[in-house]
Formats: sequence, C-alpha cells, structure tokens
Amino acid sequence: MTQRYILALDQGTTSCRAILFNQQGQIQGVSQQEFPQIYPQPGWVEHDAMTIWETQLKVAQDLLKEKQLSAEHIAGIGITNQRETIVLWDRKTGQPVHNAIVWQCRRSADICKQIKRAGDESTFRYKTGLVVDAYFSGTKIKWLLDEHPELRQRAEAGELMAGTMDTWLVYQLSGKKLHITEPSNASRTLLYNITTGEWDDELLKLLTIPRSLLPEIRSSSEVYGQTQASLFGGEIPIAGMAGDQQAALFGQSCFEPGTAKNTYGTGCFVLMNTGSEIARSESGLITTVAWQLNGQLTYALEGSVFIGGAVIQWLRDELQIITDAAESHALATAVEDTAGVYLVPAFVGLGAPHWNSDARGMISGLTRGANRKHIVRAALESIAYQSRDVLDAMLADAPTVLQVLRVDGGAAANDFLMQFQSDLLQQPVERPTVIETTALGAAYLAGLAVGYWQSLDDIRKNWSLQQRFEPQMAAEQAEQHYQGWQKAIQKSLP
Ligand code: ADP
Repeated sequence: MTQRYILALDQGTTSCRAILFNQQGQIQGVSQQEFPQIYPQPGWVEHDAMTIWETQLKVAQDLLKEKQLSAEHIAGIGITNQRETIVLWDRKTGQPVHNAIVWQCRRSADICKQIKRAGDESTFRYKTGLVVDAYFSGTKIKWLLDEHPELRQRAEAGELMAGTMDTWLVYQLSGKKLHITEPSNASRTLLYNITTGEWDDELLKLLTIPRSLLPEIRSSSEVYGQTQASLFGGEIPIAGMAGDQQAALFGQSCFEPGTAKNTYGTGCFVLMNTGSEIARSESGLITTVAWQLNGQLTYALEGSVFIGGAVIQWLRDELQIITDAAESHALATAVEDTAGVYLVPAFVGLGAPHWNSDARGMISGLTRGANRKHIVRAALESIAYQSRDVLDAMLADAPTVLQVLRVDGGAAANDFLMQFQSDLLQQPVERPTVIETTALGAAYLAGLAVGYWQSLDDIRKNWSLQQRFEPQMAAEQAEQHYQGWQKAIQKSLP
C-alpha cells in the first residue's frame, strides 16, 4: 500500500509554508516562501491576497514535487493561518477588491474609539469574548466599506465576499466553490457570538456590515470539499482549519481543561483550554473558541505578551551585547542570579494583563558590579515573568487549575528560560520533540476528519516529550523574585 501523508498549509504573517506529516505526527518535508509586506502609511499593514494564494500554492506544489508525491498520496489538507487578517473579493471573478488588511494594521483605531464612546464595548465584549481593538477583523471590514462607498454599495448588492485567510485559501483551493470558515477564526472577527456559535445580527448592525459578505461557519474538522483537480493532479479533501494559536494548542494535544501552551516567538502567546465553559476574563485576557469538533465548541483563554523573544533580538541588535540569540543561554548561566537587576521590555507598552500602551522599557536595580551577564539573564527572565503575569491572570479567571504548560516557538529552545519558567510557576514545563505545533495542529484536525487518525487518543500518543523541566527553586525564593518583578513593572508605568 502506498504511504500517505497529511499536508498542512501554514499561512503566516511573513511567509507561507507547506509541511508534510506522517501518521506519527513527524515532519516529512517542508517548503517555505516569504511574501512582501506592504506599509502604505505608518501603522498600516497590508498583504496582496493574490500573492498569498500564489505563494501558498507554490510551496505546496514544490513540496509534493520534491517528495515525488501526487494527490493520491495526500489523505487530506489542513489549513492554519495568521488570524484576523481580512480580504474582500468579487463574488463573480474571485479578484480581491482591495489589499488584505493585516492583523497588525491600526487603521481602524478611530472606529474602535467611536464604539467605546457610544457605550457599545460591553456588548462586543460579552458576545464575542474580545476587547474592541483594531487588531480584530470586524472594524477593518467596516473601515473598508466606510472609506470606499462603491465597495459598500457592492457589498449591499451581494456582489462581494469577505474572509480571513483560511476562508480565502479554501475558496481558491476549491476552485471558488467554498466560502466557509470555522469558529477559531470566526471568533476573532468581533462578529461571531461565542455562545450561539453564529454570526450575530446585532454586532453586524453595530458595525454596519452586511451579513451576505460573510462565509458559512463550519466546524474545525470535517471534509469541507475537494481541491480543484488541476492544482495537484487530482482531488484532495480539504478537511481541517484553525487559526494559528488555536492550531498550536491542538498540536500540543492540550485537549483537557487546564492544559495550556505558551509559544515563545517574537511575542508570547499563552492559550489555556477551558473546555466547554466560556471563561470570562476580569483581567484583560480574551475568550476565544479553541476549535469545534464533533459539533462541540471548546473554548480557551488567551493572553499575549508583545515583547518575548524580541527582547533577545534587542540585546543583539540594539545593545549589541550578544552576537546571536543562542549565546544568551551561556551568558545567563555564567552568573548565579541577576544580582537584583530587572529588565522590563515594555518597548511598545505592555499587553495582557497590564494593558498599558504608555508603559516603557526599563532596567532597574543596577549596581556597580552589574555586568552584561546580569542584563542578559534579566532579559531572559523577563520573558518568563511576563508569561507568569498572563498565566496568573488566566488562573484567576478560569474555573480550572493549570495541569501542564507545554511550550514551543524559537525561544523555547533556551533551557535556562524553560527552567526559570518552571521555577517561577512552580509547575512542570514540557517541551515536545515536534515544535512545529501550529502546522501539526492543522494536520491533526484534517487527519481526524478523513480517518487518518481515529481519535484524540491516537493524537495524544503521538505527542512526544523532548524535555520536561521540573521546578528546582524553592517556592519562597521564586515568590521573592516575582515580587521584585512586580515592583519593576510598577516603575515602568507612566
Ligand atoms: P516568530 O514566529 O514570532 O518569528 P520564532 O518562533 O521563530 O518567532 O522565534 C524567534 C524568536 O526567538 C526571536 O525573537 C529570537 O530572539 C528568539 N530566540 C531564538 N532562539 C533563542 C534562544 N536560544 N534563546 C532565547 N531566545 C531565542
């Protein structure tokens, strides 16, 4: 029998990747290509949606070619994507009518202010689990329709379609047959009601967005349709989709309430599964749908830290006290502690749970003996401290206790950071062998739908531990360190 694989399409903010997985959840091949970022004005970010599609298709085709595989070797395709980025296109021709507006783009900040002034924020917060912020797709769509009356007219006449990148890719892959999304992406739009699991008419009205623009909401794991045969020399079932952070939670097998993952990339993204319960945050976190499987919605709490691994880049590029990120480990472990030095990397303000855009970075506690090793160590520790801030807020909000923290992302390679994280949380931290958890999550969602994997148990068995970090520091000492951090944070606030 021919060996078959699952193909994951990972549509990121800066690149498109295609990754092949086998039944053990191991990577069998990767193809990746970057695409251009478009900055029309300070604070504005766009992508050319057609370029995204062409790049995504090319990496998938290249990968199959390189591995000498064709459609019959692929049991299913799973899609994961940069979240919130939105594009509008012509229903007849499939041509985008404007560049995609990227999650980072701040152009709809004024619309958000108006919503708050009108007193509507609590409605959005309750129904969607989100905060009213330009980050989320809804106000980006409103901006497009407000700024371009011809687009509003065409949208109202039912001539346009809207979608996040999952929707856009599945539309193209299916030969323009499918206009669909699923709840982990829908729950990032400010238009999706996390309780009913549907687009919400009141929210659509508040944002003056015609319902006909929006895709049908399907589950995160089911055979939605087939790829157009000409793309890969035969049809392949398109069978799973999820936004990148939720896909990573799935790829980490965080299926039970209280299981959480932290991705240590440029920023840090912490997501904790809260099961079928909608945990509402009092601490500035957001509530999101993790996935919909077998008709059942699973929810998560999410908190993000703006500057995570990026603080290490700052040490390298701006302070120039390290030559590469990996060197931070040797320097940090060459001293016993930071000698009282704290570094708060509030370079762009502070995200969850502090939410202060005027906070600024700071190094405190410097003495005559402080050297670069202490500063490097303090920088790594700051990543763990900020993650604890988010996890503490989560546990205050969630009806559950933290079972385990699973980690991925570039900076999770740093053993010192992982050990310090475990010490600080007084909880074990687990680093898996496959750290491409985003793509893996999409693959699992697709594979479940086509019977490549039979159950969550099959998937759980695939998760394999690369290293587990157990707390080594005494709880009181960890607490003392953390109190020092909390004081430092206070000093960074305006
Ligand atoms: P992203 O997906 O956000 O681009 P990655 O997951 O690729 O990020 O991680 C890159 C980040 O991780 C960079 O900010 C880098 O400084 C940091 N990083 C990479 N390796 C290490 C390391 N060994 N120790 C600490 N930080 C690291």
